[in-house]
Amino acid sequence: MKLFRRLSLFILCFSLAVFINSCSDSSTDPGDPAREEFNSKAAPGESAEYFLQSDSYGNIEIEMDYMEGHKPTTEAVNSLESFLSDRLNKNNITINTSEIPARGDGPYSTDMITTIEEDERDNYTEAGSNTLHAYIVIVDGEYTQNSNVLGIAYWNTSMALFGEAIDNISSSGPISPNEQQVESTALRHEVGHNMGLVGNGTPTQSDHKTEGSAHCTNDECLMAPSVRTGDIFQNISGDVPSLDEACIQDLQANGGK
Ligand SMILES: [Zn+2]
Ligand SMILES: [Zn+2]
Repeated sequence: MKLFRRLSLFILCFSLAVFINSCSDSSTDPGDPAREEFNSKAAPGESAEYFLQSDSYGNIEIEMDYMEGHKPTTEAVNSLESFLSDRLNKNNITINTSEIPARGDGPYSTDMITTIEEDERDNYTEAGSNTLHAYIVIVDGEYTQNSNVLGIAYWNTSMALFGEAIDNISSSGPISPNEQQVESTALRHEVGHNMGLVGNGTPTQSDHKTEGSAHCTNDECLMAPSVRTGDIFQNISGDVPSLDEACIQDLQANGGK
């Protein structure tokens, strides 16, 4: 009797162990892609459909960390939010901003920024959840590769803005753009890359992709290459550049608005 009890206890533990193991092992089950772990270190544009459509993620939540001294203007955060609600099929769009310590380590390389993300990012997309999480960090320096670059999209849900480059361009002369204009433009442009623009995750519907980069051939479009360094502000005056029809058509064809 005792032996039987022990045996049944053993069988119960063993079957429980098998059950737990088979549940936690779902990421390697090729038959069930919906339960695979979300990869937050894929290339920019690889999760374009997850941004645009609501099939997999009905909500989007953006964590925006800024280094001390580089708080984004409220207008720029609102501008990003309205851009997202214009283009993404989401029920809820949330942007949470919080200050992180200044590092003073600039200029920053992409590798340095991925390390900052590992230290500071609190929220990642979880398999089976209805919320897509994205991350934006505003650093207190310039980019190592080009001091004029305003921002980069470096993973499928991760972007960085270079606070020092933004300050430089928004105070470079009497007719320079203001801070909210530069920040809004850089935020919208980088998130545009994570929506798969141009021809990088979201297929183009017409011929408007630049040679050798994921940008738009229309000089006045938000996705023009000149936006990357803020040179766009020499072509346009006053407002934040918009997406042109060609870019909007691409997003709509891939499940966006
Ligand atoms: Zn770009
Ligand atoms: Zn365009």
